[in-house]
Amino acid sequence: MSTADTIKTAEEHLLHTYNRYPIVFDHGSGVRLYDDTGKEYLDFCAGIAVYALGYGNSRYEDAVKRQIEKISHISNYYYSRPLAEAASLLTAASKMDRVFFTNSGAEAVEGALKAARKYAYNKDGRCDHEIIAMEHSFHGRTFGALSVTGNAHYREPFEPMIGNIRFATFNDFDSVAALVNDRTCAVILETVQGEGGIYPADPDFLKKIRKLCDENDILLILDEIQCGMGRSGSMFAYMQYGIEPDILTVAKAVGCGVPVGAFLMNEKTAASSLVPGDHGTTYGGNPLACAAVAEVLKIFEEDKIIDNVNNVAPYLEAKLKELVAEYDFLIGERGLGLMRGLVFDTEKKKPGDVVKSALRNGLVLITAGADVVRFLPPLVITKADVDEMIEKLTRSFTE
Ligand SMILES: *Cc1c(COP(=O)(O)O)cnc(C)c1O
Repeated sequence: MSTADTIKTAEEHLLHTYNRYPIVFDHGSGVRLYDDTGKEYLDFCAGIAVYALGYGNSRYEDAVKRQIEKISHISNYYYSRPLAEAASLLTAASKMDRVFFTNSGAEAVEGALKAARKYAYNKDGRCDHEIIAMEHSFHGRTFGALSVTGNAHYREPFEPMIGNIRFATFNDFDSVAALVNDRTCAVILETVQGEGGIYPADPDFLKKIRKLCDENDILLILDEIQCGMGRSGSMFAYMQYGIEPDILTVAKAVGCGVPVGAFLMNEKTAASSLVPGDHGTTYGGNPLACAAVAEVLKIFEEDKIIDNVNNVAPYLEAKLKELVAEYDFLIGERGLGLMRGLVFDTEKKKPGDVVKSALRNGLVLITAGADVVRFLPPLVITKADVDEMIEKLTRSFTE
């Protein structure tokens, strides 16, 4: 099929929920993608923070292939070795006690919200518990996840949402404290807001939230679906804040291409929340997904992926800061590790136009919020890749 035929066939049959770029990607290698005409692209998106190990990691691919040849699915009525292994490795890596595997990030958030309500229900038997979420947050597109997503534009056509969600201002502790009452069962936030525009939580904000939750027996849910899995420079971003969540959601890079997510919790939450009959999934935690998760975690450890993040991230940050100093349409740079955003003065230049121009120049980038170009490269990039990205990006400013 030609490029045009592929796009035409897709557009004739897919539900039109995405405005896709007119590119048909065919394969990848390392930190590069290739379209169906053979054109090469340097990838600073990684399938939205998914392909942490880059493309074609042979160890990862062999592990997934070996599992497909054995068995891909068995149902949650039984055990499998990959399930046991992935559960053990992911709880160790996240320093959480128990895990439930899902098929996506949104589904992980659904589970986290259910666990929080059940925990509160077990305490007081009430059915009117409230959850505090943040403005400009993003937690997914299913009803529960959408209900805690702080973007009215995404929610409005689908109202009513699940009830009793209150929105506070990210990094404004008083706005959160003002919403707490005897019905509050959880606070949910992204340790680094992703879709909303790459805003890391202030250390002081997160510490105070943790204390507020402890004082009121409110569960702290951290959504690290985007910022987790090494991207921040620690295995999970919360580890740089000296606090621990009660519930943690993960997805994206946890499967590095195999669709999988998870919600994890500490023993306190696990001991008094979801029990048999409360929650389930057919595919979640199947041997194929878990073989991928287990191998990803082993590769992270053995290939010292996080060391590379901490080696390259300061270089990327410095290079982006140089751009801010040089171009008048750039007004800032922020982020944590290899999750970074370049903030545009949208009166002068539109991030969306830069992304389109970058694609023409063989560089894959995406936007975040209304005024940010987002950088989410595979975690295996080198400083030379950063230099090449900067060269392609600056060319995209002028073309
Ligand atoms: C992507 C994302 C989600 C949703 O994950 P899906 O796999 O797309 O359902 C939730 N929370 C955050 C922070 C995300 O970045």
